[in-house]
Amino acid sequence: TDTTSLLLSRIRDVADYPEPGVMFKDITPLLADPAAFMALTEALAGIAADTGATKVVGLEARGFILGAPVAVRAGLGFIPVRKAGKLPGATLRQAYDLEYGSAEIELHAEDLTTGDRVLIVDDVLATGGTAEAAAQLIQRAGAEVSGIAVLMELGFLGGRARLTPSLDGAPLTALLQL
Ligand code: IMP
Repeated sequence: TDTTSLLLSRIRDVADYPEPGVMFKDITPLLADPAAFMALTEALAGIAADTGATKVVGLEARGFILGAPVAVRAGLGFIPVRKAGKLPGATLRQAYDLEYGSAEIELHAEDLTTGDRVLIVDDVLATGGTAEAAAQLIQRAGAEVSGIAVLMELGFLGGRARLTPSLDGAPLTALLQL
């Protein structure tokens, strides 16, 4: 569609970043183009509405940039999931594996309540580890995942298969398959 080709045209491939052999997908050209950023926000806000979301969670750091306008557009609250040690209040913490080593993310527990349905927003789904840990945090807080919405899915990394068991049937929607 027109939106798909607009979004695709505003993503820059950066070879060997952040390390040799990685093709980094850079969204800063998209953010700098107001028509593209608006089209992306509208598409993701539509997914929030379609999945019956009551809150939007954005994953640090690019998920904040994409998720916050989606929340405003959809009329929903925004909740940041941050790298460990950044949130001042009482948090839930979840560890997950990286290619080398592991990482931890946190959520302010009081921001979600039983009955909330949460759309997780991020720029890229790669191995799915980050999104899986975020889904676990949301469920531990007593809420449900309404869906996961990303700009790009790097299909060859198998993130979708890894995530499916954590989703309880909620949809994983990628605007672009790369
Ligand atoms: P995963 O946990 O392996 O799925 O990695 C997803 C996280 O890494 C997301 O928060 C992305 O922002 C980031 N990420 C992985 N690959 C890329 C990329 O090529 N461009 C931008 N972000 C990426």
